[in-house]
Amino acid sequence: MSIPRPLTSEIGALKLSEIFYSLQGEGIDVGKPAVFIRTALCNLSCIWCDTKYTWDWNHYDYDKEVSEMTVPEIQEQISRFDTKHCIITGGEPLIQQMKLVSLLSSLKSNDYFVEVETNGTILPSDMVERFVDRWNVSPKLQNSSISKLNREVKACLEYFANNSKAYIKFVICTRSDLSEVMTLIEKYMLKRERIILMPEGNSAVEVLEKSKWLAEICLKKGYRLSIRLHTLVWSGLRAK
Ligand code: SF4
Repeated sequence: MSIPRPLTSEIGALKLSEIFYSLQGEGIDVGKPAVFIRTALCNLSCIWCDTKYTWDWNHYDYDKEVSEMTVPEIQEQISRFDTKHCIITGGEPLIQQMKLVSLLSSLKSNDYFVEVETNGTILPSDMVERFVDRWNVSPKLQNSSISKLNREVKACLEYFANNSKAYIKFVICTRSDLSEVMTLIEKYMLKRERIILMPEGNSAVEVLEKSKWLAEICLKKGYRLSIRLHTLVWSGLRAK
């Protein structure tokens, strides 16, 4: 049973987990230097989540892991890094979307290209949408252990399926996940050039083994294959 914590942060500063400079590890910009703003809190609790420190208060200390920062404070921190590519990730950033609007507005005023990573279960507001350059949407599968009711939000998946800024990334654990992926692709008419398959795994060996058979499927279907660069290079270690 998870320790209850506030899920929303619409008053005051944004609840953040960390800010760091690294290479984009996934998706279509893999390898690109970027500043990451990792928001705290998530509305899901995927069994294989690699950022449990953003939401799992049974195993992590909320007071140590979460800090509240205003937009000027965030802007000041990220300006230390020599990049105009910003990735807002989580946790689930859209939990705090009202607060996110002012951050996004500030980032665009300062000429950042802004990617937002989301689990595709929360509909973004029009205010958020106008400031986002790219959506990295990662709908969860049965392998996440999240119930279908909570992981498959029809209105959200339809929204992102018809959003030309959105790429849809599926995390694949085993070959048996693929039939579920195909069902979702057909059901929501996801465009194949915007579909990314990514192997789940915490070690380079595991990621490379899965990448071999995923590569064949991507070639056959016309999907993209995303490696997990951070796992291959840094063994998935948390950024310092
Ligand atoms: S949606 Fe993402 S951050 Fe949230 S539990 Fe699942 S993998 Fe972790």
